[in-house]
Amino acid sequence: MSRPVLLAVDENEKSLRDIEGELRDRYERSYRIVCLGSAPEAEAELARIADAGEEVALVLAGDSLAGAPGSEFLGRVRKRHPHAQRGLLIDYESWGASSIGEAIFAAMALRQIDYYLIRPVRSPDELFHQAVSTFLLEWAHAKRVSAHTVHIIGESWTGRAYELREVLGRCALPHTFCLADSPEGRKLLDEVGDERPLPLVIFPTGDVFANPTNAELTIAAGGPVDPEGRDFDLVIVGAGPAGLSAAVYGASEGLRTLVVDEGGIGGQAALSSLIRNYLGFPRGISGHRLAEEAYEQAWVFGARFAFMQKVTSLSRDGERIVVGLSDFPAVSGRAVILAIGASYRQLGIEDLEALALRGAGVFYGGPATEAPAMADRDVFVVGGANSAGQAALHLAEYARQVTIVVRADSLAAGMSHYLVQQVEAVPNIEVRLQTEVVGGGGEEWLERLQLREHGGAGEEVDAHALFLMIGARPNTDWLPGEILRDERGFIRTGVELADAPAWPLERNPFSLETGMPGVFAVGDIREGSMNRVAAAVGEGSIAVRLVHDLFTSERAGSAARSA
Ligand SMILES: Cc1cc2nc3c(=O)[nH]c(=O)nc-3n(C[C@H](O)[C@H](O)[C@H](O)COP(=O)(O)OP(=O)(O)OC[C@H]3O[C@@H](n4cnc5c(N)ncnc54)[C@H](O)[C@@H]3O)c2cc1C
Repeated sequence: MSRPVLLAVDENEKSLRDIEGELRDRYERSYRIVCLGSAPEAEAELARIADAGEEVALVLAGDSLAGAPGSEFLGRVRKRHPHAQRGLLIDYESWGASSIGEAIFAAMALRQIDYYLIRPVRSPDELFHQAVSTFLLEWAHAKRVSAHTVHIIGESWTGRAYELREVLGRCALPHTFCLADSPEGRKLLDEVGDERPLPLVIFPTGDVFANPTNAELTIAAGGPVDPEGRDFDLVIVGAGPAGLSAAVYGASEGLRTLVVDEGGIGGQAALSSLIRNYLGFPRGISGHRLAEEAYEQAWVFGARFAFMQKVTSLSRDGERIVVGLSDFPAVSGRAVILAIGASYRQLGIEDLEALALRGAGVFYGGPATEAPAMADRDVFVVGGANSAGQAALHLAEYARQVTIVVRADSLAAGMSHYLVQQVEAVPNIEVRLQTEVVGGGGEEWLERLQLREHGGAGEEVDAHALFLMIGARPNTDWLPGEILRDERGFIRTGVELADAPAWPLERNPFSLETGMPGVFAVGDIREGSMNRVAAAVGEGSIAVRLVHDLFTSERAGSAARSA
């Protein structure tokens, strides 16, 4: 196998020499370094590399090439090399200039570049290398060649093989899938020499599992399923952004903290391929990566986790709140934070729901895991909110054509202005307004959809995949009645409850407290939530502060009673 290519193109001779020196010095053992002085030479070389079947990991281009923005050249790279990362080289002096900032923002919005980096100014230039390493890590994740990749081999893309991909996705573990009778599948099967029934899951450690249960897979992936203890200060239900944030703050402030999730980490955020509006990540961060980092942070502070455990009941026993679990005996906490988010609404078309259950071309939520498999296909996204816009942009990098199907009469009705602009600027995205999916189906995999324009006739179209992003609903039916909810099922907290006749205490509820004293609700599950990662994270941290206030008021109350 030839080494993947790192290609740099810059018209500034000195800069090109410096870049070449830095790249050869650090990366030559693992990558082939190609440095060229003009865009036509670089285009020709990229074509030759593609024809030879070689891989390009990273392309760096000067901010101006032959009088045109370097981003235009970079925007063409993915046509031949769909996984290549693309970095725009700028001078240190340009950093902070508003025109450069605007050009970078526009080029990122049009998905021409992944990010920018500053030309090296001395050797070694660690800032330059940090940027290059980040690009290479992103490439390794996209190509599924990172060191921790798990391989799944199955007889078909659907059924149990799909469920296993979902579980690994929810554990934020990079994984690949291949069919047993593909060249890659045959090679992997020969290597492991395992003849047990498919699907097989091969871990980087060399461990091979034949059709493992979700819990076995989670444990093998390093995710605990047993709460390892029964009594905690704080039990958090849900490991999405709100729950993970509460875990970081709770554990770091000395509370014995347990987080329980019916899946793995990340919640809805794990479906987002690129979160660009979360503070501190100017190049954006995938929901998976954000969740991984937060999980690690909480774990290092001492939080304990139990994955693949559904919380099925909540009840009070004296000073403690008892939390019932699906597969283990109940645990208890002095306080509980509900961070249980919401799940996607169903389309309600039987044939399509059947395909969705098998993961056979109909998917609820974002295309973070499935997008690379959509190369050269016609795919559809249903929904008119930001998540639908993001999904379409991500898919457009791979698919031949992406169609957004939306009931409203304009995208602006539900999508942020910046996303509408991006969607409109990408040539292989079509928007069908005032249109609904009314039917569809396929034998093994989605093959066709029936669309109907409001007031018009139906139309059948070829479709390889359908991504449904049609809003979320809360799963709160299992909660006790004293946890008051609005008519849609979202949990009421704080002042909303102060006048509720059912509130049992003299003190007013704390701001994120539910109708059951000592139980708090944060993030998307809360009535009136902002449906943003940052808001969920903020509420998770605030709730921990309120838990401290609660404990202080309880201590004061019991001191007063014993005086
Ligand atoms: C595709 C997509 C893209 C998005 N992009 C962005 C973006 O770019 N920027 C942004 O700010 N926001 C974005 N959002 C919204 C953002 O992801 C949510 O606002 C955020 O995830 C809410 O966090 P949460 O922790 O409240 O809930 P969730 O993320 O929904 O997490 C809830 C967790 O609770 C668990 N759970 C539920 N019930 C139980 C139970 N009974 N027992 C145990 N566990 C349970 C679930 O398994 C889940 O892991 C996006 C959402 C989607 C779907």
